[in-house]
Amino acid sequence: MPTYVYRCMKCGKFEVSQQITDKPLERCPTCQEPVKRVISGGSGVIYKTNGFYITDHKDKKGSHAAS
Ligand SMILES: [Zn+2]
Repeated sequence: MPTYVYRCMKCGKFEVSQQITDKPLERCPTCQEPVKRVISGGSGVIYKTNGFYITDHKDKKGSHAAS
């Protein structure tokens, strides 16, 4: 099952395992805010630390993408 990365304005990035036939999430399962799917792999888009969105908690789980 593929894992998709979403970005929530409140919670930051999180991963969800979905069937490829599933619809993309529209709402964060945690806080119900709208989320955007992050297309990983080679697009050069980095959402993590550019500072254009506000994180009010710091997650040190080390789940940053290694690619
Ligand atoms: Zn959220």
